[in-house]
Amino acid sequence: MRSFKPIIGLEIHVELATLSKMFCGCPADHFGKPPNTQTCPTCLGLPGALPVPNKKAIEWTILVGLALKGNINKKSKFDRKHYFYPDLPKGYQISQYDEPLCFGGYLQTSSGMVKITRVHIEEDTGKLQHKIIGGKKVSLIDFNRSGVPLVEIVTEPDIHSAQEAKEFAQKLQKIIRYLGVSDCDMEKGSMRLEANTSWGLNLGYKVEIKNINSFRFLGKAIEYDLKRQKKILETGKTPQQETRGWNEAKSETVTQRYKETADDYRYFPEPDIPPMIFSKSYISKIKSQIPMLPEDKMRLFIDKYGINTEYAGILVQDKSRADYFEKACVFAAKQSINPKDIANLMLNRGIDGKFSDPEKFISSLVSKNVKKYSGQSELLETIKEVIKKEKKAVADYKKGNDKVLGFLIGALQVRLKGRADPKVARNELIRLLK
Ligand SMILES: [Zn+2]
Repeated sequence: MRSFKPIIGLEIHVELATLSKMFCGCPADHFGKPPNTQTCPTCLGLPGALPVPNKKAIEWTILVGLALKGNINKKSKFDRKHYFYPDLPKGYQISQYDEPLCFGGYLQTSSGMVKITRVHIEEDTGKLQHKIIGGKKVSLIDFNRSGVPLVEIVTEPDIHSAQEAKEFAQKLQKIIRYLGVSDCDMEKGSMRLEANTSWGLNLGYKVEIKNINSFRFLGKAIEYDLKRQKKILETGKTPQQETRGWNEAKSETVTQRYKETADDYRYFPEPDIPPMIFSKSYISKIKSQIPMLPEDKMRLFIDKYGINTEYAGILVQDKSRADYFEKACVFAAKQSINPKDIANLMLNRGIDGKFSDPEKFISSLVSKNVKKYSGQSELLETIKEVIKKEKKAVADYKKGNDKVLGFLIGALQVRLKGRADPKVARNELIRLLK
C-alpha cells in the first residue's frame, strides 16, 4: 500500500441556549422536560404555520463565526433540506445551503491550523425514543427538541489524527462556552460530533461517522474506522462511501446508510423567510461582544500573573473559574498575596467551590494570615511538649534519622491546630533538639 495519511474533517452541531426555539416562541430548553409539552403548530410542522426567525440565534451564530475568525456573508438566507424521517414532521429541515451566515476562519491545534469551511444555523429535529411497551418494540416521538436552534460548524479536511480531532473539538467547546451561547454538554446532546474520514482525498470515498457523544468516543471511532478502511485498501479495494454510527458497547462503527449527496436533499430557498442582509455596523457590534478567549486568557495568566502553563491551562478550562481567579487576583494584589498562591489554593484545595465570592476568599486568607502563626513563646512551649512526649522520634533523630523531623512538626501542628509557621517551627525544633 502506498503511504497515505488520515484525512479527517469534522461537522459539529451545537444547540444554542436561546430562550425560545429557532422559528417559534416555544422554550428552547428541552432537556428533561415531559415529552411533547413544548410544541406549537410551527415546530410540529402543521400546515399553514409560518416560521419567524429568532434574531438572537442568528446573532449568536455570527458571534461563533467571528470568534473562529471567519467572514460573515452580507446576504444570507435559509433553505429547505428535504428528507424523510419521523422526527422531521415537515418533511424538510430549515437549514442553510449556499449562503450560510459565516464562511472561512480557522482554529489552531498543536498539530497545525484547521480551516473552517462554514458556520450556519438550522433547526434541530424531534427525538425518537425506542422502547418496549407491553412486550412490543415501539418508537415514540418527542417534539420538544423540534425547532431548537442548532449551529453547524464544518471544518476542512485538515485534521490528520484522532488526537488532533479530539483537540479541535475540545478547543471549540471551550470557545463556545466562553461565548456563553451554549453549554455544549455532550451528555445532554447540546454538542454532537461527526467525523468525515478517509485515507486520501483522491481515493473517491469518505466515511462519515455519527452518534459520537464524547471526545473519547470521537478518538476511538476515528481510530477504529481508519483501521477498517486501511484493511480494505490493502486488498486493493476502495471502502464504501457511507454513514456509519459508533457503537460503544461493541467498540466499533456500523453501517447506517449509504451516503446521500446534496442533490438528494433537493435544497431550495425557504419561501416563507426573506433573505437576511447585514450591515457592517451590525457585524462589528457583534464582534465587540467577543470576550477574551481561552488561549489569550491563558497567555495573560502566564505573562501577567506568573502562573505556570499547566495551571494556567486548567484555570482557563472553565470560564467561570478563570473569571474567579482574575477577580481574586485583583483583591489579592491589594493584600500583596501572590497570584501563584491563589492558583494553588484553587486548584489543589478547590477554594473556588468553598467561597463563591472571590473577595471573601481573599479576606479569609488575610484573616488566616493574621491569626495564622502562634506567638514565639507558645511555639517554643509546644515544641518542648512535643520533644517530651515523642521520645522515640527524638531518639531516632539523635541517631541521625532526619526524616522524623517531619513527624515532629506534624505533631506540633496538631497541638497548635496548624498555627505553627513551618519554617520557624523547623528551625526552633532543630535548635531545641540540640
Ligand atoms: Zn413551537
